[in-house]
Amino acid sequence: MSEYKAPLNNMSFVLHDMFQIEQFLTDLAHPAELDEELCNAIIEEAGRLCSQVLAPVNRSGDEQGCVLTDKGVVTPDGFKEAYHQFVEGGWPAFNASPEYGGQGMPKTLHVLLDEMLHASNSSFCLYTSLTSGAVHALEHHASEAMKATWLPPLIEGRWTGTMCLTESHAGTDLGLIKTRATKNDDDSYLINGTKIFITGGEHDLGENIIHLVLARLPDAPKGVKGISMFIVPRFLLDSSGNPAEANSVSCGALEHKMGIKASATCVMNFDDATGYLVGEKNQGLKYMFSMMNNERLSIGIQGIGLADSSLQTAADYARERLQSRAPVASTGGPDPIVEQPDVRRMLLWMRSHIEAARMSAVWLGMQVDKSELTDDNEQKAQASKMVAFLTPVAKAFYTDMGSMSCNLGMQVLGGHGYIREWGQEQHVRDVRIAQIYEGTNGIQAMDLIGRKLLMDKGEGFQIFAKWYSDAIRKAENTGKLSLANRDNFFSTLRESQATLNTTVEWLLEQCQQRPALAGSVATDLLELIGLCWLAGMWCLALNSLERTKYLSEQQRQQKTVLAEFFINKVLIKHQTLKASIMAGEQSIMALDDELM
Ligand SMILES: Cc1cc2nc3c(=O)[nH]c(=O)nc-3n(C[C@H](O)[C@H](O)[C@H](O)COP(=O)(O)OP(=O)(O)OC[C@H]3O[C@@H](n4cnc5c(N)ncnc54)[C@H](O)[C@@H]3O)c2cc1C
Repeated sequence: MSEYKAPLNNMSFVLHDMFQIEQFLTDLAHPAELDEELCNAIIEEAGRLCSQVLAPVNRSGDEQGCVLTDKGVVTPDGFKEAYHQFVEGGWPAFNASPEYGGQGMPKTLHVLLDEMLHASNSSFCLYTSLTSGAVHALEHHASEAMKATWLPPLIEGRWTGTMCLTESHAGTDLGLIKTRATKNDDDSYLINGTKIFITGGEHDLGENIIHLVLARLPDAPKGVKGISMFIVPRFLLDSSGNPAEANSVSCGALEHKMGIKASATCVMNFDDATGYLVGEKNQGLKYMFSMMNNERLSIGIQGIGLADSSLQTAADYARERLQSRAPVASTGGPDPIVEQPDVRRMLLWMRSHIEAARMSAVWLGMQVDKSELTDDNEQKAQASKMVAFLTPVAKAFYTDMGSMSCNLGMQVLGGHGYIREWGQEQHVRDVRIAQIYEGTNGIQAMDLIGRKLLMDKGEGFQIFAKWYSDAIRKAENTGKLSLANRDNFFSTLRESQATLNTTVEWLLEQCQQRPALAGSVATDLLELIGLCWLAGMWCLALNSLERTKYLSEQQRQQKTVLAEFFINKVLIKHQTLKASIMAGEQSIMALDDELM
């Protein structure tokens, strides 16, 4: 089994050579005041934590899983100690507001921390990621008094957070939620209901668990407009704000599942539990969505992290495994399988996606930072539009790519990938959930076409389309590019740009009169946009090769070949995606339900 090595050099290339992050943060007057050296030191320290503390308990965590005992849910051996080190290092405070004890680090760096956490131990990362989502929701929507009570211990990592939305009859359609809240005589509420699939619903890592629960008040309007958000702590607080008496919240069962076995996925019962309303009543879903945007990007990054872990093992293995004769320059055989073109195809598919996805995640993190900090209203509006438009793409495209990559990573090892020894089958199992939770990938695609394209009348898309065109132009204007076939490379890019524009124009026109069209083509559209986004990233990467400080000559050549592979062998799929979109809804809607 290979050990996880954080791709630090590559991350520095993206941060500094590609995006000149120090200048970017200075222009934003970012309060964290980070220079190049400090950025590198932070990711290096995060990398150390991930490879030396979290990765070593990844496999044992999967084998042992969580257990529900009469004293509550117990995490696998080593998790408590790893969590202790995570807290000691101040990592829970990374991205949180300094006003409540956070470090206020930029999202641009947070995405890289998320990648390394997921790559080394996705189950562990989920406890921390849900907490940072809860912090984010409270920072934006809770009253000052609530923030002062609940945020500091969450940010210190002494307490953890959850997100309690799903009920057995209410998954995608949260308008169906039945959990009830009734007002007490003081400012508290009684919460009654059962939530299922709650990540980190109960565990032994911290002193308290703060559940953010969606529930209905008795006079609430029907559907999504009648949902409110409540803080429901596992332990109620005493007059000094410390966890004391147990609240009426309990874990009824742990779900038995395919992967992320060390993450406690709980059925949570709220039986006259005490809760506190967050913000205004009936605004809960809106508040939860602000947390979910954050979470959706993090879950997208789960796809990138696990894909990279799988690639590291697959590439090491392929260089060592001797089978058959290489088709070119054989030593007489057996030669390493990395010399087989089909094995190279798999490794290059993985690497060209993972590296470009990492670049795009950092770039999206920059848009988040810009949308929050810039004084320039036009830039703020544009950055906010990009975050809204590309978050569903990041969630779905990265996780589909992650799942495909982990499957290819297993395939590279043949039968040795399918057995447990090399850890590749765990990656396949762990990554699969990312396509489902935080809104299934189908729902992300519907969000993209419905809310982010049609309802927005294509405004967000126009900003993205201009960014793509500019990225291609930058690559075209780069002097020394050692591309094997420059004309072919740039004509594929320009064709994909035309495909994107004509397809979206056609959809904006057609979807109004054809009610099933959007849903029939949403996933194809998301893939098309995802491919163009990553292709644009390869253009920016090529453009930065002239000024790179971090890449050797050999690595520069590697980037050029990866870019060519992606454009010539992956982006070319724009043609079939366009054809599939234009084929519309007819065959999709033709059969009666019983024939489906
Ligand atoms: C391991 C795990 C951890 C989880 N953690 C949490 C958590 O911490 N908190 C929490 O609240 N929930 C959590 N969930 C729940 C998760 O978010 C839901 O499972 C997910 O949102 C889908 O809901 P569902 O399972 O009810 O599927 P359904 O909503 O029943 O959907 C089934 C299928 O129908 C499709 N579908 C449904 N409606 C539409 C539509 N309008 N248009 C197109 N397609 C549609 C879906 O895409 C899907 O393919 C977790 C789930 C798992 C398995």
